[in-house]
Formats: sequence, C-alpha cells, structure tokens
Amino acid sequence: TRVALSSYVPAGNAKLSDFAVEQVPAPTKDQLKEGQVIVKPLYFSVDPYQRGRLSGATDSYVASYVKGQPITNFLVGAIAESSSKDFKQGDLVLASNGSWETEYITDASAISKAPVQQRVDPKDYVGVLSMPSFTAYVGAAVLAKPKAGETILVSSASGAVGQMVVQLAKARGLRVVGVAGSDEKVEYVKSLGADAAFNYKTCGDFTKAIRGAAPEGIDIYFDNVGGEFLDAALANINTHARIIICGAISQYNASSPDELYGVKNLTKVLVKKATIQGFIITDYYSTPHFGEFTKEVSSLYHEGKIKYRLSETQGLENGPQAILDLFAGKNFGKSIIKA
Ligand code: NDP
Repeated sequence: TRVALSSYVPAGNAKLSDFAVEQVPAPTKDQLKEGQVIVKPLYFSVDPYQRGRLSGATDSYVASYVKGQPITNFLVGAIAESSSKDFKQGDLVLASNGSWETEYITDASAISKAPVQQRVDPKDYVGVLSMPSFTAYVGAAVLAKPKAGETILVSSASGAVGQMVVQLAKARGLRVVGVAGSDEKVEYVKSLGADAAFNYKTCGDFTKAIRGAAPEGIDIYFDNVGGEFLDAALANINTHARIIICGAISQYNASSPDELYGVKNLTKVLVKKATIQGFIITDYYSTPHFGEFTKEVSSLYHEGKIKYRLSETQGLENGPQAILDLFAGKNFGKSIIKA
C-alpha cells in the first residue's frame, strides 16, 4: 500500500479524493543499489504542516509533495533489507521525510538509527520524543523565556505540541491556562497539571473567557491556532509579554486571502512592549537545545513525571483521513498511524 498525492490543494479544505491509496508490488532486495535499504515503517507521524505540503506552493519553508508521488513525513521503521554497511536487517530507524508506503527503498543517508534509550517503545519516536515535543520545548522553554510565577496561555492544549507545552511550563513553575475544543480534552489538559482550562467552542466571547481563566493577565501566549483566538489573547497580555507563534491551524484551510482573519489588537503589542516571535523547528535540531530537550523529556518520561497521549489510526490506508481529522479536531493527542 502507498498513499500518493492525486491533486494539489492550493486553498480550502483537502478531501480524501486529493489522495490516492494504491496497491503496488513490494520492493525486493535485488532492486537495491549499493548504499540503499528497504525500510518497513512501523508508525507514521501525522502533522498539521502536511497541509501546506499538499498545496503545490514553491515558496514555503518545506517542499510541496509531488502529484503522483507518495507523500512523506516523520516515521519510525525497521530495516527489512540492506545493501548499506551502516544498517542491518532489524535495525530500528527514523526518517524525517519517510515515504507513506508499507515498504520502500531509500538511500541510507535519508535515515538514521533510532537512539537507543531504555524503555522506549518504537511509537515514542513519533510520540513523546518527536518533532512536536521538541517544538514545544523550543517555543515554551527557550524562546518564551519563562519565569516561575508567570502565566502562560496555550491553545490546542491537548494536542501533540500543546500537551507538552502544558507540562514543560508546569515543570518551570508557571501558572498554565490551556484551551481545547471539547470538554474531554479540557479534562485531559487539567489532568496534565494545567491550573485552568476551557473549551473554546462553548466558552462564548474568547477575550472574556481568557480573562476569567487568567484574571492576572497573560505573560506568555503559546499560539497554535492563530486567527480570532490570537486576537483575544493579545487583548489579555501583560507588560513585556512574549507571544510565540508556533502555528495557525485555524487559518491553514482558508479558501482565499479574504477569509484569513485580520488581527485587530496589534496595538496591544506596542502598549505592553510585548514581543511576537515566530519559529520553525527544523532550525533548532543542530543547536544544543535538541540535546537538552532529549535529556529532559526522556528522563521526565521515564520517571513517570509526564504523560503523552497518542491518537492512533490503524493502517496506512486510513492515513489521508487522519490528516483531514487534524483540521476537525478529531485527533485527541498526537496523531500517528500504525502501519
Ligand atoms: P494537534 O495535535 O494540536 O492537532 C491539531 C488540533 O488543532 C486539532 O486536534 C484541534 O484541536 C485544533 N484545531 C483544528 N482546527 C482548528 C481551528 N480551526 N481552530 C482552533 N483549533 C483548531 O497538532 P500539533 O500539536 O501537531 O500542532 C499544533 C500547531 O503547531 C499547528 O498549528 C502546527 O502547524 C504547529 N506546529 C508548528 C511547528 C513549528 O515548527 N513552528 C512544528 C509543529 C507544529 P481542538 O479540538 O482543541 O480544536
């Protein structure tokens, strides 16, 4: 099985028919060139940024998928066959741009051995130790310059990035306010240690709901959603607030520029002498922060001090639906696919 892109989606919602789920013959050892391997993926990561890669755009920070070709993303898999001196059958490997196929041939240079860690399940490499967790670390623990006693607001707080932001912020002594799209997700966010949490779909006026949950004001806003909620967060910031623009999922499916939400409260940034900082996580893998993240999060996880909820889809053929589900809030936790 493989999942290919069948049509570009420059704007609006993607649909199942924009993907092609195809049956293709499995690759065989005799097709391998020197330095190549056959990877059998175990778990695929499903991430909102893949929406941008469906667009056919040529001016993004990450390459668009190619029509007719399998789509790609982070995955963890096992080596099925190897013609590379660096890998042997059975090695557990990671790919950041691995193919959505039940088995595929790749150059060994496009994969790496999974770092050996005690008590790590293969799915943890697309879960608690994955790219969105590192994103939470860089945004919340580094760029936001958190100080104990401050208040952080985080949107999409039960998701892949959000659930880690909540816990890393609590570990740093912050007061945490989480926002999510269902009462069940809100309960989960509270169970992670959030001091307050609310459902943005039923709270009514966003600005008032934030004020109710954080009467002392917001020192850090970790933004996963953009749009109207970002505006409401700005209305509640304190002096020298830091606004970390991690994502803007409420805007990714806009069907035209007119549909993009126009933020009205930027004057607050002036009056409150606040900082707005965007970032792309791929810039940080080669910095010392990656080692710091791995050390802190793996030890907290192994000590049972952090939780990490996965939202697992069974079977690669259901991968396209898993991508679409991110934009309907149907994932509850980090979305992954079991091959
Ligand atoms: P999540 O696991 O949080 O999944 C997406 C969630 O977004 C959904 O479950 C839903 O939760 C929420 N959502 C969907 N549509 C809307 C909407 N219209 N308005 C508000 N919320 C919505 O995804 P991730 O944790 O992987 O990603 C979170 C954000 O971080 C995304 O914007 C992503 O693009 C960004 N990101 C940025 C990176 C970077 O390098 N800057 C790296 C990784 C992620 P709910 O039910 O609560 O609405």
